[in-house]
Amino acid sequence: MTTPPQPLLQLSGVSKKFASHSGRRNQFVTAVDNVDLDVMPAETVALVGESGSGKSTLGRVALRLTAATSGTVEFDGTDITNLRGSELRGIRPAMQVVFQDPLASLNPRMSAGAIVAEPLRAIRGIRGSELDDRVDDLFRAVGLHPSRKLARPKAMSGGQRQRVAIARAIALEPRLILADEAVSALDVSVQAQIVNLFAELRERYGLAYLFISHGLPIVRHLAQRVGVVYLGRIVEIGPIDEVFENPRHPYTQALISASPVPDPRASHSRILLGGDPPSPMDIPTGCRFRTRCPVAMPICAVEAPPRVLAGPGHEIECHLVDGQEVG
Ligand code: SF4
Repeated sequence: MTTPPQPLLQLSGVSKKFASHSGRRNQFVTAVDNVDLDVMPAETVALVGESGSGKSTLGRVALRLTAATSGTVEFDGTDITNLRGSELRGIRPAMQVVFQDPLASLNPRMSAGAIVAEPLRAIRGIRGSELDDRVDDLFRAVGLHPSRKLARPKAMSGGQRQRVAIARAIALEPRLILADEAVSALDVSVQAQIVNLFAELRERYGLAYLFISHGLPIVRHLAQRVGVVYLGRIVEIGPIDEVFENPRHPYTQALISASPVPDPRASHSRILLGGDPPSPMDIPTGCRFRTRCPVAMPICAVEAPPRVLAGPGHEIECHLVDGQEVG
C-alpha cells in the first residue's frame, strides 16, 4: 500500500490578531481568522484578495516570520508554531521569501554577487573558488550573466534586481518560497519573464510556492491551486482552472469579473461590489462578506457559513450553493 503524500506546509486553525492602535483597550485587529491551508511538495498555491484582506499576514505566519496567535503551523511534518532562537534559525534555509520591492530587500552597499554569496558563506560556510562557482551557477539559474556580479542593486533594472533576490532565495536549496507580490512592481513584460522563471525553478528544484498576488492572470498562469482571502479567511479554495472557470463564492465571482479578460470576445459582465471591505476590527456577524454580497440572505447575518465541498478539492464558505440554501 502506498502512503499518501504528506503536505509540506500545513496550517490548522491559524489566527493572527494584532493589538489595535486605536487607544481602546482589548481591541484587536483580526488579520487572519482560523485558517486551514495545506501546500504539497512542489505545489504552487496562490492567495488572492483585495489589499488588506490578510493574505500577506497569512503568508508571514505560514513561514513563521511572525508568530500565530493561535492554531498550529507544521512544516515537513514538524510543528514549528512555537519554535524560537536556534531551532527557528535551523528551519529558515528551507523556507525563503521573495518580496515585492527588491530595492528595499537587497543591501544597496553590497554587490549583487556578494548578496547572493552571503547566505552560502554565513550559513553553509562555503568560501573561495567553491563560493565563486556556486554564485556563478545561481546567476545562470536565474538568467543573469555572472558578469553582473559586480553591479550594485541600484545599477540594475527592476527585473534584474528581482532575479538577484530569487538567486539569494534559492541559494540554500529551500523547499518552499513565499513570493509576496513578487512581480507586482515590475513592468508587464518583465512580470511574465519572472513568473516563467518561478515556473522553471519549480520544475528544476521541486520548489513549492505560496504565491501572493492581486494579479489574477499571473496567478492563473503559475499556480495549481488558488485560495481567495476575504477579511482574514479563505472563502474559496480549489484547483486553479476550476476556480477561475467556475467560481462559486460571490466574492470570487466579483473578483474574477473585475479582472482583465485576454479574449475580448469572451462574455464578461462585471459584478460591482458595493462599499469597502469592513474593518478587521469590526468583522460583521454571520458571514463576513454579507455587507457587500449581492445575494445575501437573512441567515447570512446570524450564522457563519459552513465550509462546503463544491467539487473535487474545491471548497467554499457560503450559505448558498448552486442557488440552494445550505447549512
Ligand atoms: Fe453571500 Fe450569504 Fe454566501 Fe455570505 S453566506 S457569501 S452573504 S450568500
